[in-house]
Amino acid sequence: MATNLHTKTAPEAPPASFEDALAQTAPEAPLASYENALARAREGRGIRRDTALFLSNAAPLDALLAAAAEVRDRGKGSIVSFSRKVFIPLTTLCRDYCSYCTFRKDPGQPGAHFMTPDEVLALAEQGRRAGCKEALFSLGDQPERIFPEAREFLSRQGFARTLDYVAAMSELVLESRCSRTPQRFERQRWLDARKR
Ligand code: SF4
Repeated sequence: MATNLHTKTAPEAPPASFEDALAQTAPEAPLASYENALARAREGRGIRRDTALFLSNAAPLDALLAAAAEVRDRGKGSIVSFSRKVFIPLTTLCRDYCSYCTFRKDPGQPGAHFMTPDEVLALAEQGRRAGCKEALFSLGDQPERIFPEAREFLSRQGFARTLDYVAAMSELVLESRCSRTPQRFERQRWLDARKR
């Protein structure tokens, strides 16, 4: 019988989901004990839903945590990464009232504020001294739409929209970071630029 070495078989379609991938693996042996199920989990190839449910009901928490840590360490190592950033809450005023939100405030409430450029720069500098590499601006959504206090604050800074103000504050922080010039000089330069 002749064999055509150039004949190719069609590649298998990749599984569409994690559940499909599990379904394509060899069937699991019946679960005799949580130790058997844990041993299977430790292999790190994924376990079926019924095995996971069995483990969550039958295995002691310490054993579950130890197995999870073993799989994690094997796949990811023990390094925990984080982003060195300073949090800059530019304004806590917000036109929305999301029920889960603990950040937003109405004018007059404790913690309601808009940060001035000087406050922004001072906080960014504190972060820089503490070793931060990023500045994370946090703010409510377009408070100027419903609060005259927000419109007045923005107007005093030369803006009509919070979005433009946060863009300008981002540039201000970036410039001061890059130039390493004293804050008061940066602040004055920024004010002068806005007057032109
Ligand atoms: S700050 Fe964000 S999460 Fe909070 S109320 Fe406003 S839009 Fe919603």
